[in-house]
Amino acid sequence: MSVMLAPKGGLAPPGGYVFIAGNGRRVVGSSWAQVISRVTEQRALNKQPPGEPAREVYAQFCARSPTHCYQANRVVVSVAGQHAGHALVNRVAGWIAGMFAALYRGKAPLVERNLVDARVRVCRNCAYQEDWRGNCVGCSASLVGVWKKAMKKAGAKTNGLRGCRLLGEDTDLSVWLELPPRNDVVLPKHCWRATS
Ligand code: SF4
Repeated sequence: MSVMLAPKGGLAPPGGYVFIAGNGRRVVGSSWAQVISRVTEQRALNKQPPGEPAREVYAQFCARSPTHCYQANRVVVSVAGQHAGHALVNRVAGWIAGMFAALYRGKAPLVERNLVDARVRVCRNCAYQEDWRGNCVGCSASLVGVWKKAMKKAGAKTNGLRGCRLLGEDTDLSVWLELPPRNDVVLPKHCWRATS
């Protein structure tokens, strides 16, 4: 697994939330979630390859400010759900951007509806559900736009689920997708993403 760097939560990035695109254009936001969403949207609008916006945005920032970053895929989240300081909206933004790209590449197969329903029941009763939109309406608005497009592309219908605090994923979308189990995070036994 390659190293995935991500900004530490709670630290304002020196120079702001900025990504310099390949054409030299600055993509600016009021949060990393917004920058990632904008990069994702711009590429889709310009019919460019989707790339990996979250990884690229974070890698660029972390090259500029390494002391403001941590190795995200080395972090093991405890069952208690502590992922100190790393805002859920930023983690979900990276996940949605990746799924958005995979869906547009046709690389995000769906599961049967009865399996979706079973997953929905599990997530709905799980203590780790958390609203990633939170109180930050401005910083998540563009992310919601990307999320809606990803849901539409997947042919997914909302079940009113929220984010997964442990995984940093949007479960309203994830329940529809064929996804590998996650063994880098300690998940509760009831979780459908846990290795059996
Ligand atoms: S994905 Fe697993 S841990 Fe996350 S909310 Fe759903 S059941 Fe809970």
